[in-house]
Amino acid sequence: MSIAAAQACFLCSLPKHTLTRSSSSSSSSPLSSSFPRLISNTPVFAAPTTVAPPVEMAPAERLTSGFEKFKKEIYEKNPDLFGELAEGQSPKFMVFACADSRVCPSVVLNFQPGEAFTIRNIANMVPPYDKTKYAGVGAAIEYAVLHLKVENIVVIGHSRCGGIKGLMSISDDGATSTDFIEDWVKIGWPAREKVKSSFADLPFPEQCTKCEKEAVNVSVENLKTYPFVKEGLEKGTLSLYGGYYDFVGGNFETWST
Ligand SMILES: [Zn+2]
Repeated sequence: MSIAAAQACFLCSLPKHTLTRSSSSSSSSPLSSSFPRLISNTPVFAAPTTVAPPVEMAPAERLTSGFEKFKKEIYEKNPDLFGELAEGQSPKFMVFACADSRVCPSVVLNFQPGEAFTIRNIANMVPPYDKTKYAGVGAAIEYAVLHLKVENIVVIGHSRCGGIKGLMSISDDGATSTDFIEDWVKIGWPAREKVKSSFADLPFPEQCTKCEKEAVNVSVENLKTYPFVKEGLEKGTLSLYGGYYDFVGGNFETWST
């Protein structure tokens, strides 16, 4: 079956993914044999990379070889650290970062094992306190603050965030076409509205950049709706920070709130 007439996927520029590969070996479709390695940045969410793995490996081989490298170069060279971590963890940081494969906080901020309790999700969103809708995030914050007693919570946005682009692309009436994604990124709706009203004259990509940062502020404010966070702020045992990683220019900025 040809996929040529399929509707474009909301996540990337490819045709809808519900169709299986073409049975025709002569098809020129990019999906005729497998998905392309690079995911286009249009119209929303996904973003391209020009860096391909140097060697193509079978997935299981890639995983085991990756661990072998970590074990040889890091684990076995730091027996004291890993011995200590075997007994427990006392991270000073809780980090919210995007699930985007380019923005791993341990890589970008050089966090070592045991240093950062990390939550990654689409567009690094912190939802407001809600025991039924957002129990997963709430459990993580509760555990980090009350049990690990982290001293800092950092929300890190990033350049060319597909989730933020998706948020900015939702129609003004709020109508959605995805099962989960748009409802999730709507957590940042106040940021979107602020950007669309304050920077209406900016080109769309620059509006998205503004929203990437403003959404961080919305998430930081949402953190304050959790009673244990509020208590930590009042006691002075907890600090909140915003952050932004620009992987286009190679910059990182952070601000206290
Ligand atoms: Zn992102």
